[in-house]
Amino acid sequence: MVLNFTNARKFCTKSSLLKNAVQLTKDKFPNLIRGSYATVDSKDIDYFNKLLGANNFITGEEVKSYNEDWLKSVSGFSKFVLKPKTTEQVSEILKYCYKHNIAICVQGGNTGLVGGSVPVFDEVILSTSAMNNIISFDKLSGVLVCQAGCVLENLMNYVQNEGFIMPFDLGAKGTCQIGGNLATNAGGLRLIKYGSLQGSVLGLQSVLADGQILNCLNTLRKDNTGYHLKHMFIGSEGTLGVITKVAIQCPNTPKYVNVAFIGLKSFNKVLSFFSLTRKQLSGSLSSFELMDSEAIKSVQTNIGLKCPIDDSFEFYVLLELSADNNFINLAIEELLEKALAEEIIVDATVADQPSQIQKIENI
Ligand SMILES: Cc1cc2nc3c(=O)[nH]c(=O)nc-3n(C[C@H](O)[C@H](O)[C@H](O)COP(=O)(O)OP(=O)(O)OC[C@H]3O[C@@H](n4cnc5c(N)ncnc54)[C@H](O)[C@@H]3O)c2cc1C
Repeated sequence: MVLNFTNARKFCTKSSLLKNAVQLTKDKFPNLIRGSYATVDSKDIDYFNKLLGANNFITGEEVKSYNEDWLKSVSGFSKFVLKPKTTEQVSEILKYCYKHNIAICVQGGNTGLVGGSVPVFDEVILSTSAMNNIISFDKLSGVLVCQAGCVLENLMNYVQNEGFIMPFDLGAKGTCQIGGNLATNAGGLRLIKYGSLQGSVLGLQSVLADGQILNCLNTLRKDNTGYHLKHMFIGSEGTLGVITKVAIQCPNTPKYVNVAFIGLKSFNKVLSFFSLTRKQLSGSLSSFELMDSEAIKSVQTNIGLKCPIDDSFEFYVLLELSADNNFINLAIEELLEKALAEEIIVDATVADQPSQIQKIENI
């Protein structure tokens, strides 16, 4: 076959397109059957356009990235993305879709790793990314109230300026949204110290499938009245409605943080080290993250990060301690000395300065 320049270009474009294409979910799972939902027509398009304005009603090529999940493992073929700014707009959309039998897929930051944030077929995507306002922050109680589309990292930066932290932290913080975090009951770092979102979320507002607004936006921590419907929505993955606002309890920023990166020979040693750490430092233990040798190899090879200790161990632990007094400096040394003496761990490095801590946490 002889390729002239034009043909060659076409050939390359097509082959690279094929290489990058994410397989449609309907082809990957041919047994899935589309529900008997309506297909969006020109009357619906007019309605969405009028309600949201052209900037917040996305069509065309731009919709592609909303159809594909983070891992590029599944893809829907929706043609429309709706970006409401308020709870009332979400309510109007759901009321309309309910009445006209139009299927919806709720999407936050689209960092979910199980394909729940993208349509399976041609569901209209309701993205919360334009609902990104902080509503209030009470410096006395540490209660933050915000819209569901706020990006976690923005919230972290905001409360940090006030002397507080978010009670959880994820690798996807730069993109994931607080509404998505609640919908997935995200765990992440710090759970060991501050517990799950079921505990730190004080209230939420959501919109049910028929457009009804359910207001459970309590901000009182010691609220022992009646049912706590918020728990139904935490971990509901968009199946019960759209979370639109969140009230969350933020802890004070700990004055001192120490991080250690530790090498261990076996999983049993990891368990012994965890047990020892809990015994000696349970009150200040804020992270205990386990990595195996494959994970460390992978970040070194693919991201170019350097392992801060010898990279020949089977397991590694990233340990974070946080407290309001500097006893943790001494405590972490004592812990590591004991663990080394008892041959539970083999190697360790400690950091207490923000830049050193960041380097270790990058791993
Ligand atoms: C690098 C990386 C690190 C991660 N680390 C962790 C981790 O440590 N712990 C962990 O638990 N997860 C982790 N994840 C997974 C993911 O980030 C979390 O599940 C996150 O909470 C999803 O938030 P999101 O805004 O991206 O939601 P999306 O991915 O957009 O949506 C996830 C699900 O929630 C639903 N949803 C989203 N917003 C709303 C809303 N407002 N109302 C109702 N339903 C909604 C969607 O329909 C979907 O079912 C990680 C992902 C990546 C890429």
